[in-house]
Amino acid sequence: MSAIIIDGESVAAKMRTRLIEEIDTLKKKGYYPHLKAIQVGENAASRLYVQNQQKQCEEVGIKYTLDELPADTKEGALIEHIKKLNNDHQVTGIILQMPLPEGIDAKKAQILIVPQKDVEGMNPANMGELVYGNTRLAPCTAMAAVELVKSIGVEIKGKVATIVGRSAIVGKPVSLLLLDLSATPTICHSGTKDLSAQTKKADILVAAIGKPEMIKGDMIKPGAIVIDVGINRVKELDIQGNQIINPKTGKPKMKTVGDVEFAAAKEVASYITPVPGGVGPVTVVMLLRNTIEALKMSVHQ
Ligand code: NDP
Repeated sequence: MSAIIIDGESVAAKMRTRLIEEIDTLKKKGYYPHLKAIQVGENAASRLYVQNQQKQCEEVGIKYTLDELPADTKEGALIEHIKKLNNDHQVTGIILQMPLPEGIDAKKAQILIVPQKDVEGMNPANMGELVYGNTRLAPCTAMAAVELVKSIGVEIKGKVATIVGRSAIVGKPVSLLLLDLSATPTICHSGTKDLSAQTKKADILVAAIGKPEMIKGDMIKPGAIVIDVGINRVKELDIQGNQIINPKTGKPKMKTVGDVEFAAAKEVASYITPVPGGVGPVTVVMLLRNTIEALKMSVHQ
């Protein structure tokens, strides 16, 4: 039997509708969300993110502004800029665009964003709340992965969950969020022996590895819920396995795949997220959700 595809776009659309109502209510009470993005230097990928964030914010009624700092900005100047925004009452959320120029310690800068404006959920205080089970602001991708599991409507309590990947922005927070929902999580990583034995136990399998199609169909328990966080750009091949060349550019055609071998996995799983169109769209809406949560945190201080 073929798995039901979990449509990230439709989960994101429902969340967006709820957010619009919530923002409207907040504005009626005199509270206006304002997300400030900081970009240091010019970067094509980061510029695209910024444009997308701006569009998404404006669609739901969040003010979005961008501070562009020159590429030769020193770490100290960036830190001063973040401190200034931390104290600016007009700014309710701050996002630091990556990558930062060489010589700036991204983690050091990012954790200086005060917890109540930390829309990416990366401040140690917010991470700590996650451990305490009082999650308010958590990393967007991790929350998106769990939101997609919740969207199915099956009971999470008692489920065996395997999370492949232990990064601070995905693997670890996903396992804590699932633990909070009374699943029984195991985190796997590059040191895990017999990965397949772990993934095959999983009622809920979350892949956050960054390796194209590494999770094969025979590594999945029949009927499992599969959440594929991976985003990998790979060359497109024809049926003989040869690269397809784009006639316009003369370069190999590229496509985006996840960390799960989708075609095989969907024949084994009961539910599966596609790539693209699964975790990605929900992650973007989680940033909006966090911006509103951050505003509410500031209001209730
Ligand atoms: P990281 O590179 O930070 O972490 C990858 C994890 O995978 C590490 O814990 C690593 O283990 C583990 N790993 C690597 N190889 C293996 C292996 N052979 N067996 C078992 N575990 C392995 O990646 P991120 O967490 O930042 O991202 C993961 C994926 O999610 C990427 O594809 C990324 O593009 C995507 N992503 C998607 C987002 C979205 O919005 N959809 C947002 C953020 C990321 P170890 O710790 O031992 O090295």
